[in-house]
Amino acid sequence: MTTHFPQGARIGVLTTEPVGLLDYLSPEGGVLLGQLVVVPLGPRRVLGVVWGKGMGDFDASKLRPVARLVDAAPFGEGVLEFIQRAADYTLTPLPVVLRMMLRAPDLDQPPAARRVVHRVGPAPERMTEARAAVLRVIEEHGGAGFAPSELAQLAGVGTSVVKGLVAAGTLVETEAPKDSPYPRLDPSLPGKPLAPDQAVAAETLRTGLRGGGYATTLLRGVTGSGKTEVYLEAVAETLRMGRQALVLLPEIALSAEFIDRVEARFGARPGEWHSGITRTERRRLWHMAGRGEVGVVVGARSALFLPFRDLGLIVVDEEHDSSYKQDETVHYSARDMAVLRASIEGAQVVLASATPSVETWVNAATGKYRRVDLRARYGEAELPEMAAIDQRKEDLPSGRWISPTLGRAVEERLERGEQSLLFLNRRGYAPVTTCRACGHQIGCDDCDARMVEHRFQRRLICHQCGATKPIPVACPACEVEGKLAAIGPGVERLAEEVAERFPERRAVVLSSDLYTSARALKETIANIAAGEADIIIGTQIVAKGHNFPALTLVGVIDADLGLQGADLRAAERSFQLMRQVAGRAGRQAGDRPGVALLQTHQPEHPVIRAILSGDDEAFWNAEAESRHAARMPPFARLAGIILSHPDQPVVEAYAQELARRAAPLSEIGAELFGPAPAPIARVRARYRVRMLVRAPRQAPLQSAIAAWLAAAPKAPTNLRLAVDIDPQSFL
Ligand code: ADP
Ligand code: ZN
Repeated sequence: MTTHFPQGARIGVLTTEPVGLLDYLSPEGGVLLGQLVVVPLGPRRVLGVVWGKGMGDFDASKLRPVARLVDAAPFGEGVLEFIQRAADYTLTPLPVVLRMMLRAPDLDQPPAARRVVHRVGPAPERMTEARAAVLRVIEEHGGAGFAPSELAQLAGVGTSVVKGLVAAGTLVETEAPKDSPYPRLDPSLPGKPLAPDQAVAAETLRTGLRGGGYATTLLRGVTGSGKTEVYLEAVAETLRMGRQALVLLPEIALSAEFIDRVEARFGARPGEWHSGITRTERRRLWHMAGRGEVGVVVGARSALFLPFRDLGLIVVDEEHDSSYKQDETVHYSARDMAVLRASIEGAQVVLASATPSVETWVNAATGKYRRVDLRARYGEAELPEMAAIDQRKEDLPSGRWISPTLGRAVEERLERGEQSLLFLNRRGYAPVTTCRACGHQIGCDDCDARMVEHRFQRRLICHQCGATKPIPVACPACEVEGKLAAIGPGVERLAEEVAERFPERRAVVLSSDLYTSARALKETIANIAAGEADIIIGTQIVAKGHNFPALTLVGVIDADLGLQGADLRAAERSFQLMRQVAGRAGRQAGDRPGVALLQTHQPEHPVIRAILSGDDEAFWNAEAESRHAARMPPFARLAGIILSHPDQPVVEAYAQELARRAAPLSEIGAELFGPAPAPIARVRARYRVRMLVRAPRQAPLQSAIAAWLAAAPKAPTNLRLAVDIDPQSFL
């Protein structure tokens, strides 16, 4: 039963404007709680949601009525509570969270104002390149209707070109049709027959769903063990119960393959939500999610902010993946927000991973989460054999990165017609460009960071801010020419070494910056899978779930790379990454298991030892213990406070002032570290200062920080302050 406010009742509306909650009068016909509305605000009209009874002490006779109802399903009470609690948790103003939930285009436009263009008539008499581009976009999308501005944007032309085609009779402009619901996914279609441990896991998830309440389950198993197969059974059960399921994936590139798999399982395609969908698709999915007219949504982290009508299941696949953490505008972890949302909705969460985060591992160990394990790989393809190559004992000339041992292993694969993967998590040609005459290192003008040479693109690129410049001939400091030298390896440089050593062979570099579109990347991946490469040289994008059947060797060029950081999660990330990369070898090699070789200068390092031994639990237990000893998450709570300003003294003085007034923090037993320059002390010409708050696990961290910041002196103009609850790193 949704609350109804009769005409003239005083209601509170949460607007998308910084003012937030304001009182209005319920319009003619009344209004439901959670209804999206357009309200007058001064001379403007703004979007809002009916939040509850009016509360303000504003003079009732001066209240204005709601201007108009938005044609969208009202938000359920669970959605309203989620907005409130997500705002409380992340210390974000309510209107900002509300805006995150209002991702459908044109919500503030009356439906009649929505126009679309379609192709109807013959090609125009006068055909120009711009016109042809527009027609191509229409054909590529199977004749779908487009908003004129969107069509122009996709075609890379001005809107006048679209208007011209309408005038020529090639296109026709009409009012947008009502969005149609998604085809029903059929849960009664049979899934694959499950292996015994898969069947046990699936039954555990189904039982949880039928119980009707909230619970989180860690579904653990190596890549290829059938986790997806198992959670699709949970999706089927959710559909049978008439509820909605959301599957979160970390990588857009993976979702096309995944969508096909869902379609094969349920006979229809699920809704898709990520940055690559059109405005029309975005609008349709958003509205259908709210009406309960899409059963399954597959999406990136922001899909968590769709206004689902009855969410029964949230799957977070690869739950440890760092792309689930958003660090711009609002700092949040999609995994934690999934748990929050599910606990409000009485939904189940499945966290799937081969290498769960330490937080999730500890939550499973203490019984806060359930845990089900898939032990063997499906069909019993074996895990790779692992070994370290002790770099201290290998004879490597400078500027060379493939050790003799690794080189021989690659040769063996080439002889057998199998693929090798050389993994180096460094984009570009070389991380440092230095002058051999004066020792100067080329840095970014705006950041406290070195410029990275990207030889394929013939540019130096700052990996902090994306600034680029041409590779200079002369040193910018001493002006001596021809003395600039590349120091250290990147994947492009490694590719050069591969080309020299194995000149007749087909090598492919997989690095995110070398592909201009997700489609181009996907094609390359498909070509590799089809055997059209002998040696793959890749950054961390190769670690994610791609299946290369002929790949039997993984060589990790620098296993020590991630271990050096002083960061909280350095060991964990490094472990996860190398474990995943190693798992690429020999997935389906049949009788011959794959091999993973780790080049390292410290084979006795605990992380390297844990990877080599294959004893993952030993790693998590040891890592959990060291976090416990250091009073670090998940045994304590952290919040990062990042302040930035173009002037260093200004930001430093303000941070000092904040630190002096930190009494609300000590009241809850929290400690304040800093202020100190952030590890990257300058980004985009702004100086960055960082503070870290550490609180006991049960302490009310957010309200203490809110009280502290609320009592702070007025911030200098142009100062930015961001709060990052549960920071993932210390950058
Ligand atoms: P994960 O999600 O753990 O990486 P998947 O569910 O993708 O594993 O399974 C890996 C491969 O094995 C997939 O091609 C999948 O279709 C297949 N597979 C898994 N379980 C079964 C099963 N019970 N019967 C047939 N094929 C299966
Ligand atoms: Zn920069």
